[in-house]
Amino acid sequence: RGGMPPPFKIAVLGAQGVGKTAVVRRFLHDDYSETGTPGHTRQVHLSAAVLNGHVHDLQITDYPAIPSFPGSSLQEWADSCCRGIRSAHVYILVYDICCFDSFEYVKTMRQQILETRLLGTAETPILIVGNKRDLQRGRVIPRHNVSDLVRKSWKCGYVECSAKFNWHILLLFSEAVRSVGCARCKH
Ligand code: GDP
Repeated sequence: RGGMPPPFKIAVLGAQGVGKTAVVRRFLHDDYSETGTPGHTRQVHLSAAVLNGHVHDLQITDYPAIPSFPGSSLQEWADSCCRGIRSAHVYILVYDICCFDSFEYVKTMRQQILETRLLGTAETPILIVGNKRDLQRGRVIPRHNVSDLVRKSWKCGYVECSAKFNWHILLLFSEAVRSVGCARCKH
């Protein structure tokens, strides 16, 4: 086809306060701030990055949490404000390892993504990310329970990270890009 390959579109999703913005900010700017950005609007970042030994054009979209989810539907939310979400190549679903509800949010969101075929194709990968790994003592769900569920039952990648201390931030974006590569190979 020639020309520049289209950018990898990465959608970052999850409940409010789990650290979506902090993770993206750490990755793109190697920066961290203690004050969050509650209720921010959708932010799209374009960047080139070397991941897995290749240069990639990335389009990372940091979506706001869905108000009153799971009561409201992902489909309606996507229709009303986040249409671009359908064209994402990979979904990164972030939760806070210290917040049980934020994992429930991820569970419901994954289910709705699969049910509504919001993705367009069944192959679009989902990566589950547990953030705030530095707050280990406040952890509410044992790591092996989550990673077993995610890896074995959901067949998704799983990464735990800390935006605060820059743990596994590069790894999680490398995993995201790699999972897209794998999905593409199947076609
Ligand atoms: P968002 O609503 O998901 O975008 O969350 P933010 O990025 O705004 O972060 C919410 C709060 O969590 C902020 O006060 C951040 O400083 C804090 N936070 C984000 N990541 C981490 C982390 O890895 N460790 C700790 N301890 N706090 C974090």
